[in-house]
Formats: sequence, structure tokens, C-alpha cells
Amino acid sequence: MKKTLMELTDIRKGYDLPNKGNVTILDDINLKIKEGEFISILGPSGSGKSTLLRIIAGLVSPSQGAVLYNGEQIVGTNPGVGMVFQSFALFPWLTVLENVKLGLENKPLREAEKMRKALAVIDMIGLDGFESAYPKELSGGMRQRVGIGRALVMEPDILLMDEPFSALDVLTAENLKRDLLELWTEKKIPTKSIIMVTHSIEEAVYMSDRAIVLSRDPARVITDIKITMPHWRDKQHPQFTSLVDRIYSILTKREVPSVDVAEVSKKKLEKIQEVPAGALTGFIELVEDLGEKVDLYKLADQLSLDLDDFLPIVEAAQLLGFATILQGDIDLTVLGHQFAEASVLERKILFKEQLTKNVPIMEKIVWVLHSKSNHKMEREFFIEILEKHFGPEEAEHQLDILIDWGRYAELISYDEKAEVLYLENEIAATME
Ligand code: ADP
Ligand code: MG
Repeated sequence: MKKTLMELTDIRKGYDLPNKGNVTILDDINLKIKEGEFISILGPSGSGKSTLLRIIAGLVSPSQGAVLYNGEQIVGTNPGVGMVFQSFALFPWLTVLENVKLGLENKPLREAEKMRKALAVIDMIGLDGFESAYPKELSGGMRQRVGIGRALVMEPDILLMDEPFSALDVLTAENLKRDLLELWTEKKIPTKSIIMVTHSIEEAVYMSDRAIVLSRDPARVITDIKITMPHWRDKQHPQFTSLVDRIYSILTKREVPSVDVAEVSKKKLEKIQEVPAGALTGFIELVEDLGEKVDLYKLADQLSLDLDDFLPIVEAAQLLGFATILQGDIDLTVLGHQFAEASVLERKILFKEQLTKNVPIMEKIVWVLHSKSNHKMEREFFIEILEKHFGPEEAEHQLDILIDWGRYAELISYDEKAEVLYLENEIAATME
């Protein structure tokens, strides 16, 4: 039996949001992190992955539940972790050596010892010769090496990484992933466990031994999958691709919301993902061109889209009834096929129909505009409604998406200067 390094029991994290009360971000999180494990955490954007990582690091305290490190509840920052951030988080006025040494700031070591450790790590992460360079003189990949070096120099039991490769170009990222994996698999670092947040399923399956998938609103662990293939893994191997496929299908499964319009003001509104109408139509066209069912992950690969950009499009296509997802395959519905083959004008009509049918808040907006004699209404009015469901910031965001979709469908129009929504046909009438 491998030793348990960390244990999270019944973790809940909520935030007090204006007008929304306490919103639960993470719920019911139970995790055991064992020695020797490389864990990936996957989940939709905004689901709470970073929050979970921060709780493990002791940078954020949970609203409920316990975080144990070596069997003891952590108080304040977790002494056993080192953290790597997506944004590198280097100090521009410090050299590579000084940035790395910063990881040892709170350690009771003599300066000479700190120097020795920092130089050894710099060598290990492939930055030999760059000790006195400043971050601005380095490429993105080299900067992230410094970020990793600063965490490694602490010789943490657990290395936490929050989307460490997503700010890098593909080749640089591949290179760095391999180097890090080599340090890990060949035990060149004393790190006992790695936990990495990523939005790349392929990256998770390539690097880690265990993939944990979170849901959204709130984030719960919906899947915990062991990945047992030996390193180095072949991304073309059927076992590899079928695992990627499986995780894709888990991530894209969504609950079908009920759409009783009369209930809309009382019911919880479903958050719409930010997808430009143009991207959505392009996507449906592409799926049509590819013929029958398509593997989602292959599609994402073909489009070179990150999960964070890709999932919202898939979700919107489902929401509007143009596509269905079954076990990681996307398939157009009858309407979806019709849409793909339609003329620009017919598309707008179909989109309009689906929008009013499947997005209750859109129906409500149109209803309000209809019931006003001048068929206009201030943005603020709708913001107030949306705020009750989403909070102030997200309300603005949601309305912007609705306006974009409504405009594409020629259902509503919007005067940006006056911040007023109109019924589309009203505009046409006044322009005649
Ligand atoms: P992810 O890393 O999965 O994209 P995060 O953990 O960053 O998600 O955030 C999850 C949710 O928690 C988001 O909706 C975010 O707005 C919210 N959130 C994060 N930090 C705070 C905070 N300090 N106050 C209020 N809400 C927060
Ligand atoms: Mg994050």
C-alpha cells in the first residue's frame, strides 16, 4: 500500500456574491493523494479547478471539510507543496538565479546552501548559463522553466501546477512536458506526487496516472480514472485514444434543461457559454462536412482548439438542438443537418426558432419587448433580472452573449450607445 500524502474530506467552498448569497463553487470533494501519483484535474473553465488547487496549497481555506497533509490538518499554507502558475509569476527585476532562490526564502538554510540548491535546480531544468539573465530576456518556455525551478528548489513533497503549459506554444510545451516527465519518472526529483490542473485531456492522459474530472456549478468529482499505461505513451495507441475519447464523453455530457417558459423567472437559469454565433454556424457546417458521427476529441484536434474554447461551442450546439453527443461522438440532429445545408436567410430563421424555444431568457426578453408599446427596453432592465441568477459581472456577460445571438437571428437589435434593446422588426420599420 502506498502511503497517503494528503487527504481532503467533505470539502465545500462557497463565496459570498453580491445579490446571490453564498454560492457553492466546490462541493463534496473527497480525495486521497498517494505517494507516487501524478494526478490531473480536468473540468470546464470556471468550474473550480484553481480553487481546489489553492485549497490543497493552503492558500484558500475551505468553507467546510478538512485538508490533511501527512495525517495532520494544515493551518495556513501547506508546507509540503510547491506551486507552478500558468502565468509564470516571475519577478521581472530579479535574475533567473534570484527568482529560483526565492523558493527557498523561508527555509532555514545558509546562503551558500541556498545558492548550491538553486544552481543545481537551474542545471536540472535546462537553464544552465542563464543564471544571471532577467525574465524579459527569456522565451516563454524558458520563463516557465524558471517557474518550475522555483517550485522544485523547495523540494516539495507535492508539486502543484495550474495549467503550466497553456501559455506556451505547442512545440515548447511538448518539450517542457517531456523534460518534466523525465525528471519525474526517472526520480531525479524528490517530489512524491504531482497534481496538475489542465484543460487538455490529451496532456492529462499523456502525463498522469490518474485523471480526476470535475463538474461545474458546483464542482464535484464526477470521474476518477486510473491511467496505467507505461511511459513513454504513444498518443496514437488505441488504448490512449480510447481513454481520451472516454474522458471527452464524460466532459461533454450535459443535463437537458427543462424549458417551461412560464417558470423562467422562478427557475434557475442555465448559464450560456460565450460562443460567437459565427463560430457556432461554422462548427455545425464542419460537422456536416465530416459526415456521420465524429469523435469529439479528433474534431478538437483537427480544429487545434483547446478544450476551453471547444467545449462551449459543443455545448451551445446541443443547447440549441443542432447536435447531440453520445459517448464522445457528436452527431447533427435533423435540424442540425437542415441548418448546415440552409441558405444564410433560412439559417437565421432556424436559429431564431431554436433560440426562442431552447433559451428561456431569450423568450422572456422578446416577450418584454413585445409587450412594450415602443418595443424598446433599456439594457439595465434585463441586467437586473439576470443579476438575480448570475451575479453582476456574469449578468453583463450573459446579456452580451444573448445580444450577439439575438442579433444574428435578427430577433432583437441593440443600440450600443443608448444601451437599449429593440425588436428587430421595429428597427426595420423605423428605417423605412
Ligand atoms: P477554474 O480554475 O476551473 O477555471 P476557478 O477555481 O478559478 O475555476 O473559479 C471557480 C469559480 O469560483 C468561478 O466562477 C470564479 O468566478 C469563482 N471564484 C474564484 N475565486 C473567487 C473569489 N475570490 N471570490 C468569488 N468568486 C470566486
Ligand atoms: Mg483556473
